[in-house]
Amino acid sequence: MDAEFNRNLVGCRECPRLVDYLRNLPPKGKRTRDEYWNRPVPGFGDPSAQVLLVGLAPGAHGANRTGRPFTGDGAGDFMYPLLHRAGYASQSQVSHADDGLQLTGLYISNAVKCVPPENKPTAAEFTHCRPFLARELAGLPRLKVVLALGQGAFTSCLRMFKAQGVISSLGAFPFGHGVSYSLENGLTLVASYHTSRYNVQTGRIDESMFLQLLQRVRRLAAGENG
Ligand code: SF4
Repeated sequence: MDAEFNRNLVGCRECPRLVDYLRNLPPKGKRTRDEYWNRPVPGFGDPSAQVLLVGLAPGAHGANRTGRPFTGDGAGDFMYPLLHRAGYASQSQVSHADDGLQLTGLYISNAVKCVPPENKPTAAEFTHCRPFLARELAGLPRLKVVLALGQGAFTSCLRMFKAQGVISSLGAFPFGHGVSYSLENGLTLVASYHTSRYNVQTGRIDESMFLQLLQRVRRLAAGENG
C-alpha cells in the first residue's frame, strides 16, 4: 500500500479499548516496551499479489512486537515455512520486519490491525477496521483469491463484501476449513482454520492440511478449478 495509507493506518486511534490496551500491554519476558511496535500493524507483501491472506489481528508478542503480520509468534512460525514451500515466501524462517523476507504473489494482513485483549476483537472493532481491509483489497489490482484464516477473519471479509453489494447475506457462506466461494466480483473467498499455536497443538490444523490448501489456493488464483 502507499505510504499515506500506512501513515493513516498506523496513526489510527478509532478503537478506545484497543488504544488503551496497547498503552498498557506489558512486554513478555526480559523485553522492554521499547522493543515493541505497539501500534496498528499494516499489511505487507507483493503489490501484484493474486492472493490476500487475512488473519484475525496482530499477536500481542508477535506482530504487535515486530510490526509485521505473523512475525515473531507461533502462528507465523508454523505458517512461513509452509508459505516458503508453496512458493509464496522467499524464506522459511522469519524473525523481524527487516529480516529480508519477500512475498511473491501474496499479500498478508489482518482483519483488525491492533492487538485485542485475549485475541478477541469486538464487533465494533471489526467494523471500525474493515475500511482499512477494504482499501488493502482495492489496492491489489491482480487479486484473485482471499484466504481468510479463522472464522473471525472470514466473517469480517463476508461483511465487507456485503457492504460492497457483492453478496446479499452471510448465511449462504458457512465457514469450514477448505470451503471456497466464487463471488460476483470475480474473487474466490477461501476459508482456513487459523494457524494459531492452539489450533496446531490441538491438531485442528497441521502442516499437510495447510500446505494442501495453499497449493489449492495457487490453482484457484491461476483460474483452475482447484
Ligand atoms: S483496530 Fe483498526 S480501526 Fe481500531 S484503532 Fe486499530 S487500526 Fe484503528
